[in-house]
Amino acid sequence: MNYQRSSALFEAAQQYIPGGVNSPVRAFKAVGGTPIFVSHAKGAYLYDVDGNRYVDFISSWGPLILGHAYEPVINAVIEKAKLGTSFGMPTAIETELAALAVKMVPGIDKIRFVNSGTEACMSAIRLARGFTGKDKIIKFKGCYHGHSDAFLIQAGSGAVTFGAPSSPGVTKGTAKDTLLADYNDLKGICQLAQEHKGSIAAIIIEPVAGNMGCISPSQAFIQGLRSVCTKEGILLVFDEVMTGFRLAAGGAQELLDVSADILCFGKVIGGGLPVGAFAAKTEIMSHLAPEGAVYQAGTLSGNPLAMSAGLAMLQALDLEPQIFKSLAEKTAYLHKGMEAVLVRHKIPHTINRVGSMMSVHFTNEAVTDFTSAALGDNETFKKYFHGMLSEGVYLPPSAYESYFLNDAISYEDLDFTIAALESIADSLK
Ligand SMILES: *Cc1c(COP(=O)(O)O)cnc(C)c1O
Repeated sequence: MNYQRSSALFEAAQQYIPGGVNSPVRAFKAVGGTPIFVSHAKGAYLYDVDGNRYVDFISSWGPLILGHAYEPVINAVIEKAKLGTSFGMPTAIETELAALAVKMVPGIDKIRFVNSGTEACMSAIRLARGFTGKDKIIKFKGCYHGHSDAFLIQAGSGAVTFGAPSSPGVTKGTAKDTLLADYNDLKGICQLAQEHKGSIAAIIIEPVAGNMGCISPSQAFIQGLRSVCTKEGILLVFDEVMTGFRLAAGGAQELLDVSADILCFGKVIGGGLPVGAFAAKTEIMSHLAPEGAVYQAGTLSGNPLAMSAGLAMLQALDLEPQIFKSLAEKTAYLHKGMEAVLVRHKIPHTINRVGSMMSVHFTNEAVTDFTSAALGDNETFKKYFHGMLSEGVYLPPSAYESYFLNDAISYEDLDFTIAALESIADSLK
């Protein structure tokens, strides 16, 4: 494939934008080479500025669960834009989206919209601290909750990929209130809860992790986490920015049959526009300004364009909940097909999959936490990424990221992807 125009645009971008990108993982630093500049996309396919076509397995890192340029979303945004893009005043569509989200997600009464998953998680933690009157939080190594200070401590994907598990600029004062635990390690959580008894406001977790590859929690772990939180008066915060409206209409809570106290959303809930949200029972949400004293605000929060995109997206999912099943079946098909190729070519691998999230790790060890995710062979991953790219398959450009399938991907596209792996498999040895 020819990447001439992408290369030229990347050169130009680097002159004016740090590293040439507005979010680090886009820069291909983990895999080498030049990032692809997108021209447009439709359904399952991305088209770059050099005219190459790719089957897309990142779906804008999750939001586009129904594929690119999904017409009901595009039309809703166009119609809304004609009426004005932002007012800094209430509009009816905010309540429409809020009511639909509250209907779809178990165990929440109220929801507050923000502009990103980062804001959602940051605000959820402030609310948890305000509600409980406690300072400390526990997060899991390898989980990513956006780039606010309290979370940039062993933060998965982007941060790990670039060898900066803790970032300069995050103060020791902030870091000391973030305690770390290993994913799937209930004993570790019980110990921390005892050591810091009475001072932990919240435990935040990706209920299915997607920022160290895709990692499923064991039932014992996730149910145990719920029990510890209930027993110790700790709020359980599910960061469902990836999993919300993706793994099921009710997200990971529904899939895993466990309930959290505060939920964070992003990605799918915005239908491809910048939206985040956090939600809980009234008892907790009433502590937020202007009702309560925990401050949180946003000039563009709940703006009509973003709300119309989110509403069109959630309405489609609410009307056709079998989409989640069909997506999971497609992902299982891809898993099986890729697995067969890797086995036949004797390439060490572990494939993890939950619903429409999946990741391929080049190790034979089970991948259940950050330590085991790091065992994957990155040299093989680089060859795999670039090999698949040259065959017309766009995968996440980091071994620590999950694939997000979208429903526009057909079985022919999956066969195409499996055939692509077959044709590059020998180069992975
Ligand atoms: C993407 C992501 C975030 C951050 O969302 P942004 O919209 O990028 O700020 C937070 N948590 C999880 C689990 C995510 O995957």
